[in-house]
Amino acid sequence: MRRWGPAGLCGADCHNHSTLSGDNTCGTDDRIINLAAEQIEFAPTTEHNRLYDWQPHIDRLGLHDELTTVPGLELTGSGAHLNAFPFRPAPFTQDNGAPVWNPDPRISAITLRDWQGAEPDRWIQINHPDMVADFIDRDGDGRVDGGFAGLAQLIDGIETQNYRGSEILGGQPFRIQRASSTRETVVYVREVIRLQMLNQGHRYAAMAVNDAHSVHGNGVDAWRMYMPSASDEPSAIDWRENSRHAKAGRSILTSGPFLQAETTDGIQPGGMARGAGGVSLRIKVQCTTWIDIDRVQILANGLPRPDLNFTRQTHPDRFGDGVVKFDATVPVSLTEDTHLIVVACGEHSDLSLGYGTSPQAAIRPCAYNNPIFVDVDGSGFAPNGDRLGWPLPVKQLSVEEARKLIAARSQ
Ligand SMILES: [Zn+2]
Ligand SMILES: [Zn+2]
Repeated sequence: MRRWGPAGLCGADCHNHSTLSGDNTCGTDDRIINLAAEQIEFAPTTEHNRLYDWQPHIDRLGLHDELTTVPGLELTGSGAHLNAFPFRPAPFTQDNGAPVWNPDPRISAITLRDWQGAEPDRWIQINHPDMVADFIDRDGDGRVDGGFAGLAQLIDGIETQNYRGSEILGGQPFRIQRASSTRETVVYVREVIRLQMLNQGHRYAAMAVNDAHSVHGNGVDAWRMYMPSASDEPSAIDWRENSRHAKAGRSILTSGPFLQAETTDGIQPGGMARGAGGVSLRIKVQCTTWIDIDRVQILANGLPRPDLNFTRQTHPDRFGDGVVKFDATVPVSLTEDTHLIVVACGEHSDLSLGYGTSPQAAIRPCAYNNPIFVDVDGSGFAPNGDRLGWPLPVKQLSVEEARKLIAARSQ
């Protein structure tokens, strides 16, 4: 019996580990208890390089009314890691019947798509993706070559949020990070590169996961997804329904705030709205007592438009102090086909009250939706190609080149 959680939605985390992964520091039952305690209701089994099913553990622990799984794996090697489900573990065979990883993620994706027979609802995602190698500069020679051509069409989702805090409002596809007292490195920002790629026509869904390898420190629940579910009882969750919603982008990603965003005519994330001149968005953000937000920013084709930015400072009347932090209908004027992402975040708060001494405590509250697409001209949705004022970042970007590009952008 479902005890809490939003009605009609399912809380999901599609990437976690336990004993069988080999690099994890808790038992399988501990991971199951961790997932159930954090009220994750759907958690595919994603151990490294072997097919496995957590369901017997869930049943033995008496947690079948709290949590459900589907057998799957994380296919892992020295390049792209991919999660996929469902599969049938084959005991007493090598890796329980898992396929072998391939350095070309397209071959891995095709292999997973057809493994144990084609399955139309099979889910395939790239974990903690190297957006540059995968989609921009495959051979790493510093020139745009399109990455692994066709890969974007072979996958269903990518992890834009894997355990750490979000930089989706950072506005830069790369930044300079101090690696030691004498050395700086260029860090690529997945969330922003994904916004650039959306404008190039990429349509795979964004995912938020924990990739938990421990219980304290890198445990479950810094991030989760919410997506529609016909049943509010975890034991009745249908992985096929879940996979279809996820493929369609009908989901939000959150490190805590509960975000609802739709057009006033009811188009949900992942959907296509029709609106000559624009649309209106109905936005509601709710938080538990130890989480707060102070900014709601709508990204229009990835750009943080100033007229679609609301903060507690600039719009105090828009923000509440109770459970409901923001509840408004916002008109969005548009002159071209536009994808809309609502970001709700706490720029001056973190998760420390909930996470204590865990490094997850430093993560800022953040939630955003997969895009709502708006067809403005009535001829279907056409991506605008905009790179958000930056080049598509290539490999081998030196600290000096990065500094020059950042300086040029800020002028
Ligand atoms: Zn991995
Ligand atoms: Zn992993």
